[in-house]
Amino acid sequence: MKVDVIIVGQGLAGSLLAWQLIQKQLRVVVMDDHHHGSSSLVAAGLVNPISGKRLLKSWNVDRCLPAALRTYRSMEGFFNRPLYHEMPVLRLFDSPQQRDLWKHRRSEPEYQRYFANALESDPGCLNDYGGCYVRHSGYLNTRELLAGIKTFLQRQDSFIATDIRYDEIRLLPDAVIYQDVWANHLVFCEGHRISRNPWFSGLPLQPAQGEILSLKVSKPVPQYIVNRGKWLLPVAPDRVKVGATFQWQPIDGEPTLQGKQELLAAYRLLSQTDSTCQVVDHECGVRPGTRDKQPFIGMHPRYPQLGVFNGFGAKGALWIPYYAEKFADVLTGSTRLPQETDIRRFASYL
Ligand SMILES: Cc1cc2nc3c(=O)[nH]c(=O)nc-3n(C[C@H](O)[C@H](O)[C@H](O)COP(=O)(O)OP(=O)(O)OC[C@H]3O[C@@H](n4cnc5c(N)ncnc54)[C@H](O)[C@@H]3O)c2cc1C
Repeated sequence: MKVDVIIVGQGLAGSLLAWQLIQKQLRVVVMDDHHHGSSSLVAAGLVNPISGKRLLKSWNVDRCLPAALRTYRSMEGFFNRPLYHEMPVLRLFDSPQQRDLWKHRRSEPEYQRYFANALESDPGCLNDYGGCYVRHSGYLNTRELLAGIKTFLQRQDSFIATDIRYDEIRLLPDAVIYQDVWANHLVFCEGHRISRNPWFSGLPLQPAQGEILSLKVSKPVPQYIVNRGKWLLPVAPDRVKVGATFQWQPIDGEPTLQGKQELLAAYRLLSQTDSTCQVVDHECGVRPGTRDKQPFIGMHPRYPQLGVFNGFGAKGALWIPYYAEKFADVLTGSTRLPQETDIRRFASYL
């Protein structure tokens, strides 16, 4: 079989890159080993334009958010199923200083579209310092998206379930061969497992393990996401997800008792309830973060047949659609990558 691009990994990165390339009429084959250690399957898929203690706009949000909405809405139309759910975030302030900071930010023109009014006096959901709603937020059902893309690829014989063996990848001067598939390019979208990749493991990855609980709750939940460090996400009238922990060592993909307790305490705090809940699921994954907090995108400086599309950290649902559009344009030769995301910034590491 001869294709334009082989993609290794069918997480959010590989799925959305494949989608964009197919939109541009390229022939693609995606290879994945049943989502072994997948971050995308665990992710809550939150998209929150305002992040961190300093209530700053997420990096590049003004470009990434429209691209994300455009992509998810067009996939929803194609797959005929809802994928992205718009839902406000109730951001609870953790100090009077943070509330003052919000007042300041709200007055800045570039922040106005993201902040709604303060909730100074809503008794049901406030902590001591109040909070505000963040607009243009929501969550992506990552499992539905991955399942939709996989079926779509399978129907056109463009999906192969396999654990890629690096020593079987053959490089020719202007082609790459894996088993019986010939391609012009092969792009690795392996998430945190890039650390084992012989061509790209030198990139400065900073993986962060995280845990999430799915809970069945007895009290009805409000229809917004609550955020104060940790977050609470209503996914059904009697179901919430609560997350997420951050752990830098060890990176072993194993859920912990400590993580579970931390998340149950967060649930009680964020839902302001002592009512009972039942743990339905406890999952753990590894975010493919990077040391300079920017994605790893581009072609290898010495092996131009090989590329990488990775490093989306905790922001995959927001960032990947925009960069998948950009990288698809690069692979069709029509543009160059934004410098800050191009792996050429780490050429000496490769
Ligand atoms: C607890 C937790 C909560 C999160 N919450 C959010 C959130 O709310 N919002 C958000 O935007 N992001 C969130 N994230 C981050 C999000 O999951 C990532 O940004 C994104 O999913 C990364 O996608 P990826 O495709 O790069 O990697 P992955 O999803 O890890 O996909 C990599 C794929 O490659 C396959 N693979 C790897 N190596 C090989 C090989 N050699 N051969 C074949 N297949 C291979 C794997 O099986 C896997 O399917 C969260 C992550 C965690 C862990």
